[in-house]
Amino acid sequence: MIEADAPAVLPGLSAPACRNADPALFFPAYGVPLSQVQITAAKELCTGCPVREECLAIAVRSDESDGIWGGTTPLERRRMRLQLARMRQGAELARAVVSGEEPQVLQALRPAVVHSLFRMGWNAERIGCALAMTSSQVDQARAMAARSQAFLALMERHYPKGWT
Ligand code: SF4
Repeated sequence: MIEADAPAVLPGLSAPACRNADPALFFPAYGVPLSQVQITAAKELCTGCPVREECLAIAVRSDESDGIWGGTTPLERRRMRLQLARMRQGAELARAVVSGEEPQVLQALRPAVVHSLFRMGWNAERIGCALAMTSSQVDQARAMAARSQAFLALMERHYPKGWT
């Protein structure tokens, strides 16, 4: 949640939608988890917020462990950070594959590796051969990576020089 008196994150954007909201809606009292009702209400406000993307990027980058930021809960942001880490690992593994190595690719990292190999210009058939995957497994992995890629793109837009 961007503070009410915070400057606009990007020039030309209007104030955060939560400017006049009850802070308790976004941040739990000490030791008390947000209720589902609070989460739903806060997320509704975030949905129409003009600085939602920026708010989310800030919270993910700083590993905010409390409150609703950019329409996400702490658990959802932890998952996003995990997705980003996997995309980064996947890119490293893809580079190893392209250079002729045969790295061990864990199941969880397959979508990220497949995605990176497509970005490097490999086609589905070549990827399938390199990673011992069927064409439907390659398609499935690519689809799974699409969501992470969208989030990665958001972070790159806001932190082009890196966010870690
Ligand atoms: S996205 Fe949500 S928490 Fe962030 S500034 Fe907007 S309304 Fe506030």
